Amino acid sequence: MPGIIIKSMIFIFGLLIGSFLNVCIYRMPRSGKVEKEDFLKISGAQEQADKIWQDLIVSGYIDEDGFVERKFKKLRNKEKEEGFILEGKDMRSKKQIFDIIDHSCELSIDEPKRSFCPNCRKQVLWYDNIPLISYLMLTGRCRFCHKPIVFRYFFVEFLTAALLVILYGKFGLTAHFFVYSLLSCALVAATFIDFDFQIIPDEITLGGLAAGIVSSIIFPQLHNTPLRMQALIYSILGMLAGGGSIYLIGRFGEIIFKKESMGGGDVKFMAMIGSILGWKLALLIFFLAPFFGAVVGIIARITKGAEVIPYGPYLSLAAFLVILWGNSILKYLFYV
Ligand SMILES: [Zn+2]
Repeated sequence: MPGIIIKSMIFIFGLLIGSFLNVCIYRMPRSGKVEKEDFLKISGAQEQADKIWQDLIVSGYIDEDGFVERKFKKLRNKEKEEGFILEGKDMRSKKQIFDIIDHSCELSIDEPKRSFCPNCRKQVLWYDNIPLISYLMLTGRCRFCHKPIVFRYFFVEFLTAALLVILYGKFGLTAHFFVYSLLSCALVAATFIDFDFQIIPDEITLGGLAAGIVSSIIFPQLHNTPLRMQALIYSILGMLAGGGSIYLIGRFGEIIFKKESMGGGDVKFMAMIGSILGWKLALLIFFLAPFFGAVVGIIARITKGAEVIPYGPYLSLAAFLVILWGNSILKYLFYV
């Protein structure tokens, strides 16, 4: 088959995967998470919504970032009402508050089945759900409420497709291609979730870590060895080097700057990357990422005055470059 046809097929496949990643990026961090604005509908005034928000935190039902606590999910309705200290409110509004939280917990990767407009909540019609094309046909607006659809949907689809074609160009149809494609999808999802919420969900990091260890055993060639046992050891060493390096620099930052500089999500994220790429490439990513982080971080601070700068996107960028050229860089640096 001519290369251009295979590449086109991979590109189209990549668009579909990218479309799925958009769903993950939107839903993963929002599953079991509420926003202050959600309570405006029932309280009417910002001041009251703030009060409800504070009371929910004090009652231990949500955390400061709006993530629903385990405690809330376990309690029965009556217990929830008794444990909730909201003053000057009747039972009916308590019920409405809990309904909003319950509703946020219903959102998951496969529920609801169909995509919906985040603004008007109307289901997206199947012919409005075609990657890239629908966005252009609808000129970037919802068919029903005409609110702009964020450009990111288009970008993530295109990016995913492009990354897969690049990986194919480098590795052909090999185990490396399939495993690195999966890893790259995880990098894309983690990047955009981290940008918005400064978290990387465990589904990606711990799920990816398990997948990384299993694929190392199935495809030992990922670690340049024919032996499965050896590949498993390299995978675990990669996990320790990746996670450990970020953990240590985080501890170091805590001691120097007296505040948390690396989240647990970053540690698990790098452990996952290391389990697939091995300890040498994991350490290379660790040393490369700050360069990107520094450049982009300075731009972000100048343009937006951003205080919290997520680190996942720079780890992801470094990881993708290392997938492509890591071994060449190591050879150049150490003549090995
Ligand atoms: Zn809409």
